[in-house]
Amino acid sequence: MPGEIVRENPARLEEIVGRVPVAGEAEVDRAVRDAEAEQRAWRRLPVDERAGVLREAADAVDALPGAAELLARESGKPLADCAGELRFAAAYLRWIAGQAPAALADRETDDAAGRLVLRHRPYGVVAAVTPWNAPIILALLKVGPALAAGNTVVVKPSPLAPLTIGRVLEAFPAGLVRVVHGGAATGRTLVGHPRVHRIAFTGGSEAGRAIGAAAAQAITPVLLELGGNDPVVLLDDADLTGEAMDRLVMASFATAGQVCMAAKRLYAPRSRLAEVRDAYLAAAERVLVLGDPLDEGTTVGPVISADAADRIRALISGSVERGGTAVELGAVRAELERGHFVRPALVMDVADDAPIVAEEQFGPAVPLLAYDDEDEVVARANAGDLGLGASVWSADEDRAFAFARRFDAGFTFVNTHNRTGMALRAPFGGVKRSGHGREYGVEGLLEYAQPCAIHAPAAFRAGGGGMGAGAYPS
Ligand code: NAD
Repeated sequence: MPGEIVRENPARLEEIVGRVPVAGEAEVDRAVRDAEAEQRAWRRLPVDERAGVLREAADAVDALPGAAELLARESGKPLADCAGELRFAAAYLRWIAGQAPAALADRETDDAAGRLVLRHRPYGVVAAVTPWNAPIILALLKVGPALAAGNTVVVKPSPLAPLTIGRVLEAFPAGLVRVVHGGAATGRTLVGHPRVHRIAFTGGSEAGRAIGAAAAQAITPVLLELGGNDPVVLLDDADLTGEAMDRLVMASFATAGQVCMAAKRLYAPRSRLAEVRDAYLAAAERVLVLGDPLDEGTTVGPVISADAADRIRALISGSVERGGTAVELGAVRAELERGHFVRPALVMDVADDAPIVAEEQFGPAVPLLAYDDEDEVVARANAGDLGLGASVWSADEDRAFAFARRFDAGFTFVNTHNRTGMALRAPFGGVKRSGHGREYGVEGLLEYAQPCAIHAPAAFRAGGGGMGAGAYPS
């Protein structure tokens, strides 16, 4: 028996939120084989019917009692954020259900070149391996389109937030979606299973590299959504007043900064640096409240673990040791020693090679840096291996859209950043070492169907013999 995962509340370490059994090789094998058996009938259902199942699941997710509170207690995210994530995930399922019939329909052409049918073939069993920071939406971004396209799915959630997603996945008909719990060992067994024909992974670069290597060995296609180190460029005409600044602050500190697309490096024109700093500090006073996720008014909860807290504190103190300054932000309403709380911080006077700038901090601390001209800030924003998101802030939308094209990023927000910028229809994913493949959008649906051609060349239709045997068509 491989044991169990005991999940504690990161805001109140004395509280055990729940337990789940760890799946060993036998349990993973059974889950994959059952999912494979189920897929044979599921793929034959018309796509409209599969879409109907997604809509019912969305309603069931919306009606799930106590889910937001459970998510807050296991992940440390503020209650309102958890409710928002669950609502957004259900809305995504409905959106995919609406898109699937047209996007997955056969495309047929019959013309002078011959007859071509392009059909969308499901892969079979999809393995979905997900992180803890947005455990519901990041799992349903895989489950929804995979099911719509006729696959079945085995999900391996993070051991740091396994409870709510386990309940949410019960909203789907038994058999279509299976859950196996555990850490890296369970994930390795799942992605290496010979009957898995598609892998979708969201998480860190290290695990992504290991999963990519395993997928390459098995020749299994893999979608990788990895980390980011998103730059924010404030142009010289950016709005620094109330609401815009509040949005900028939350872009870095929502989920205590533990979001792949958080605003992770802020670049301001040197001529406006002091003004930006003052506006930022004032906004932080308005919007940042460090507290228990279940308390009304909390906007920043604890980080996920003791290791994460130590790592982020070391990044902040390391910046100060290098001559930087760190200003603590916002109000504190938590008993800080009761959980993994880290005081949000704005870090200044650091160079681009300081770890807090050059690496993904994935926590509640953000550097503010000065730039002198646009070419220079583009080069600095694009330095490094990661290329997930970016944002540009300007009073002139056309100027911002033109500037946005210069980022090495999978997506760029204008005058916002992080989840306030999300749109169900906009494809999401990284460039460079932030991964490959896309989620959201019709592009995120087509990741789960392989285009396969059926073709009768014109020359040989109706018994014709228009070209020589063995010749290329001219
Ligand atoms: P992680 O990589 O530690 O774990 C992610 C998942 O992979 C977990 O379920 C884990 O158990 C599993 N896993 C780890 N090693 C594995 C292996 N060798 N084989 C199979 N499975 C394995 O990530 P995390 O700490 O949960 O999440 C934080 C990271 O995720 C950050 O880098 C963040 O930027 C990234 N992230 C990216 C996106 C995105 O969409 N691009 C979204 C959220 C988080």
